[in-house]
Amino acid sequence: MGSQLISNIGQLITNSDEELGIITDAAIVIDGQQVLWVGSNKEAPAADSTIDANGGVVTPGFVDSHTHAVFAGDRSKDYVARMSGQKYATGGIKTTVAATRAATENDLISHTRELLRKCHSHGTTTVEIKSGYGLNVDAELKILKVAKTFTDETTFLGAHVIPAEYENDRAGYIELVKSEMLDAVVPYSKWIDVFCDNGAFSVDEAREILQSGIAKGLMGRIHGNQLGDTGGAELAIELNLASVDHATHVSNETIAALAESNVVTTFLPGAEFFTKSLYPKVNLFFELGAKVALATDCNPGSSYLTSMPIAMSLAIREMGFTPAQALYAATAGGAAALRRSDIGHLQPGARADLVIWQAPTFEHIAYRLGDIDKKILTTGKF
Ligand SMILES: [Zn+2]
Repeated sequence: MGSQLISNIGQLITNSDEELGIITDAAIVIDGQQVLWVGSNKEAPAADSTIDANGGVVTPGFVDSHTHAVFAGDRSKDYVARMSGQKYATGGIKTTVAATRAATENDLISHTRELLRKCHSHGTTTVEIKSGYGLNVDAELKILKVAKTFTDETTFLGAHVIPAEYENDRAGYIELVKSEMLDAVVPYSKWIDVFCDNGAFSVDEAREILQSGIAKGLMGRIHGNQLGDTGGAELAIELNLASVDHATHVSNETIAALAESNVVTTFLPGAEFFTKSLYPKVNLFFELGAKVALATDCNPGSSYLTSMPIAMSLAIREMGFTPAQALYAATAGGAAALRRSDIGHLQPGARADLVIWQAPTFEHIAYRLGDIDKKILTTGKF
């Protein structure tokens, strides 16, 4: 493919700074793989072909840095229970584990493909996918093989919960995760993650598991502080993990420490929405300059959400994000949470992953829940 000029852009979001690096009356030139040039529409160089953006907005594709998109089975009963006031706990994961263990690799591939097609249709061009619904060697391996066919951002989450057959032998399960299971999945995993929370794994258990993965060359991230202020965020700082995800219950001291660290805090408002839980407030994170991302947490039990624009709308409505902060967190923030510098922005050299929105300003994305005509260009696998 030759070079392509996207001309007549009302607002081009480059993310060259945290104010979104907006260029008005802009144009962009890409070669199918990379951004070659950005600037004023009047100064645009010639290219082999042209797309007219009709005055619309061009943004980087969304970077959804937290999903559990490979699963089988139905958890709609959990949703009904949550909506009738039953509190969220970790136990429901076991229903998905049973169905996912029973599913064939082909079944999982076709289900995941459909789900990711949805994510993509909302403007997502990079997605992270975790395991964690297998919880034995064969099923965790099966999930990560499936995930790897769609993305390089694959995460081993063998330490999601303790499976039923190990209920009376936590130490035995943790040993399995750290040894045989880890060895099997390493070729298909980039990241290791632990659900460090009430009803899941303690800080000491999480440290031990994360360190064994890091020793095998994986990079670390953590589910922390969703159900209680239980130390996951502090562990993320201690181990210099890429991201602490959820962070619903975090002390002011820890927010200040996060702001001083390299750890990105990834907010998942879909989880609060679908479990009818209290949303975290993000004012202090922004005041202190902490790095922040937004993701869907796409999973069947606590956040069946594929739309990054809806995650943005919830974050603005319920958590105190401005529309600009939400867009930056959903693009550049997600990239930082995956320690990627080639995505989440549209400066020369970036991957040519972008969305052309038929709307006059970027605020329309959240304002209209993303329900806007759009064209999505991507270099990824889905
Ligand atoms: Zn999650």
